[in-house]
Amino acid sequence: MSSQVAIGSLGISGSHEPRQQGGTPSPFTLVDLQHRQVRYVRISLTDRCNYRCTYCMPAEGVEVVDRPQLLRFEEIVRLVRIFVAMGIRRVRLTGGEPLTRRRVVDLIAQIAAVEGLEDLAMTTNGHQLVSLAGPLHDAGLTRLNVSLDTLDAERFAAITRQGHLKHVLDGLKSASEAGFSGIKLNAVMLRGLNDAETSDLLAFARAHGHVLRYIEYMPIGTDDYWGPESFISGDELRTRLTDAGWTLRGDDISASRGGGPARYWQAWPRGVDPDSAPGTPVGFITAVSDHFCATCNRVRVSPVGTLRECLSTAGALSLRDLMRQGAEDAVVTQAIRDALDGKVDGHRFWSGQTTLESMVQIGG
Ligand code: SAM
Ligand code: SF4
Repeated sequence: MSSQVAIGSLGISGSHEPRQQGGTPSPFTLVDLQHRQVRYVRISLTDRCNYRCTYCMPAEGVEVVDRPQLLRFEEIVRLVRIFVAMGIRRVRLTGGEPLTRRRVVDLIAQIAAVEGLEDLAMTTNGHQLVSLAGPLHDAGLTRLNVSLDTLDAERFAAITRQGHLKHVLDGLKSASEAGFSGIKLNAVMLRGLNDAETSDLLAFARAHGHVLRYIEYMPIGTDDYWGPESFISGDELRTRLTDAGWTLRGDDISASRGGGPARYWQAWPRGVDPDSAPGTPVGFITAVSDHFCATCNRVRVSPVGTLRECLSTAGALSLRDLMRQGAEDAVVTQAIRDALDGKVDGHRFWSGQTTLESMVQIGG
C-alpha cells in the first residue's frame, strides 16, 4: 500500500508496507517546504583539527568546545538510526578533522552496522590515512573525500599551517591499497595562492584515478580574507583548464555521480582524443557563483548536535539536548521534521549574509 501523509507542513510519502524479511526498511521520503527531498546527512564528529587551513580557521586562538559537549558515540549512532528510519540512506562524517576523534574506527563500525544505511562516507584532510585507511575500510566506511589544495610541499605547509603534503600523498596511496576507489579530492581554489595549479591538480587526479572537485571559496568563518582578490569562480577555472589544453565536455554526467553539490564535466588533457579515449570526471562546487540551493538535498549535524538546515544559517535545534533530556525517538523525529520547515530556499552569501562560525564549528 502506498500513501501520502502530511505531518505539519511536511509531506512524507512512500510505501507503508511492513519491512520484508531481510529487506531494507520502507522508503519514506523526507521533504522540506520547497519540496526538496532530504537524502543526505552530514554529521560532524568534532570541531577539533590538526591543521589550521587559512580559509577555514585562524592560526591561533581557536576555541574548541569541552569534550562532554560533543555528541557521544551512542548519540551519533542513535541519530543515524533515526535519520535512516526517516528515509535517509547516505551519511557523511566530517569535522573539524574526523580522524582526530578518539576511537573513530569503533564509531565507524557502529554506524556501518545500522540497518538500511547504504552509504557511509568521510571527508578528511588525509593526514592520518596511512595508519587508518585499512581499519576504516574494514570497519565499513564506503567512500572517502580527501582535501588536497596543492601539490607543492611548501604551499601545502603554508595553506594548512600545520600539515605535511607527504602525509596526505602517502595516505591517498594507503587508501587506494586498502580498497577505496573513486576517491574524491577537494581543492578550495584561492586566487594568488594555488590557482596556478588548476591544471596540475587535475592531471594528478587523472594519473591516480581520483576524482577532483574544485570548490569555490565561501565566505564562512573568516571575514577578512574572502573577497574578489581571493575568490575564483567555477567559470574562470574551466576557462583556465581549456587555456591549459584540456577539453571539457558537458555537465550531463552530474546526475550519475551521487546527486551531491558538484556539477561534473569530462576532461581530456592536451594530446588525448576525446572521441577515442575515456575522459576524467571533474567536479565544480560553485556554492557562491551558481548556487545549487534549489536541489539541496542535505542537512547537517554539528559536533555538538545542532541540526543545521543550511550552511549559511545558524541552526536552532539541539538534538543532543533533546536526547539528553530523555526524548523518545518519535519526539526527536518530529523535531527534525519541524526544523526542516525552516530550511531556507537559498543562501544569502552575495547579499552579505554569512556566518562567522567556521566550517569546523558547523561541520563542513
Ligand atoms: N578536515 C576535513 C577536511 O579538510 O577535509 C573535513 C572538514 S573540512 C571543514 C570540509 C571541507 O570544507 C574541506 O574540503 C575544506 O577544504 C572545505 N572548506 C573549509 N573552509 C572552506 C571555505 N571557507 N570555503 C570553501 N570550502 C571550505
Ligand atoms: Fe582542518 Fe579541514 Fe578546516 Fe583544514 S579545512 S582547518 S583540515 S577542518
